[in-house]
Amino acid sequence: MLAAHHYFFIVINQSFQKNLQNHIQNIQQKDHNAFVNLYFEEAQKKAKALDEKQQKKESIGKMTGKIIGLKDLFCYQDHPVQACSKILQGFIAQIQATAVQRLLDEDAIIIGHQNCDEFGMGASNENSIFGPVLHPTHDNYTPGGSSGGSAVAVKKNMCSIALGTDTGGSVRQPAAFCGVIGLKPTYARISRHGVIAYASSLDTVGILSKSIQSIQQTLTVVAGQDIWDNTVSRKPVPVYTNPIQEDKKKMRIAYIKEMMMGDILQTSVQKQTKYTIEKMKKLGYRVDEISFPYLSYVLPTYHIISNAEASTNLARYDGVRYGYRTKNYTNLEEMYTKTRTEGFGKEVKRRILLGTFVLTAERYRQYFLKAQKVRRLVQDYFLKIFQSYDYIITPTTPTTAFAHEAYSKNPQKMYSTDLYTVPASLAGIPAIALPNGADHKGLPISIQLMAPFFEEHRLLHFAEHLMEINVVDGGL
Ligand code: GLN
Repeated sequence: MLAAHHYFFIVINQSFQKNLQNHIQNIQQKDHNAFVNLYFEEAQKKAKALDEKQQKKESIGKMTGKIIGLKDLFCYQDHPVQACSKILQGFIAQIQATAVQRLLDEDAIIIGHQNCDEFGMGASNENSIFGPVLHPTHDNYTPGGSSGGSAVAVKKNMCSIALGTDTGGSVRQPAAFCGVIGLKPTYARISRHGVIAYASSLDTVGILSKSIQSIQQTLTVVAGQDIWDNTVSRKPVPVYTNPIQEDKKKMRIAYIKEMMMGDILQTSVQKQTKYTIEKMKKLGYRVDEISFPYLSYVLPTYHIISNAEASTNLARYDGVRYGYRTKNYTNLEEMYTKTRTEGFGKEVKRRILLGTFVLTAERYRQYFLKAQKVRRLVQDYFLKIFQSYDYIITPTTPTTAFAHEAYSKNPQKMYSTDLYTVPASLAGIPAIALPNGADHKGLPISIQLMAPFFEEHRLLHFAEHLMEINVVDGGL
């Protein structure tokens, strides 16, 4: 008979491979078009090596055996990456994104690249060269976007953690639609090195998972200074899993009046958020109503700034240096034009054109400069709110998931789904989406918590606390 401790090692011994196999099976059963590239063989090799390492009692990393998915914007060296765009067809990453390297250094296992809207531009995952992603429980519905594949993969246990990007809501909104947790940290908390750019002053690496603890572990590993990205903050990175000694009941919480009403807000979302606020009050939390007078300006401001930045960031895709090049051309000019005409999708073209327009000498003051000023007002306003409050609570999205093609011909409507997530993006503050019940169709509802700059540590613990005491439904 095997001694008890011996038996223990045999079980552990197979565990990384077994865990990986479970995730692979979930993908093979029904992948919802969540993945665009899979790396099973490599992942299996890595899991085997980790099992051996474990058996030999060699030291293992902080992310050992965690199964990670990457949005198709993260460079994973020697693997394809194409921002779900035709223009990057055939492109192989020559560098490693810093966030990816840090996860690998801690023995994480990368299982594949995940579907998203082209260059992160969209809110339904319908703008992808690889086709739309199916909602995890309602096939006819969108999973949200742009990190739609990542949210679905997390929900359906095809990976346990996903790295996404959030420029105006692309981690929080799909997390909300799919019923998982999505964190957008403070802008500049995580390096953007090796992450394909959309709008550089807003692009933020975010984390999706079903577990707050996994998000804490991941953030601890990936955040912080990086020689490859000068914009990253030098602030020390806390160990986010470490407990925080503070009286949660003393927290001052505000909710935004303008985000609790209006035509755009679905009744079930409004009711559920109100109910959550009432529950908090009953438990003795101080929750006050505040006003955010700039709400109607945030979407135009976001689109002017992000389109302007996109138009310059995407200028590099000219058929010479990366990916796709048109087949038929007679001169250089024609090669550029045809490559870009054939390579970019409709939404990306729309944004490049608008972005170019707002940056022209005649329009710069009228649009771009003005948008920058509004952005500063929004940021200052949040700073002021946070002098009196610790957290702001809002619905993550005005509605639950919508059906495929319901908004795809109506950009205004599509953009409106970002109304509650864009304010934190413009301000650069951290925000988290937490599952909070469902509507009558069974589609997830989500609540958003925003916190002051670099307060992810407290934010994550407070979010966990609210789920533990059942103020927020969780429902994972
Ligand atoms: N849905 C928003 C947009 O279409 C946000 C995108 C994002 O955060 N990458 O721009």
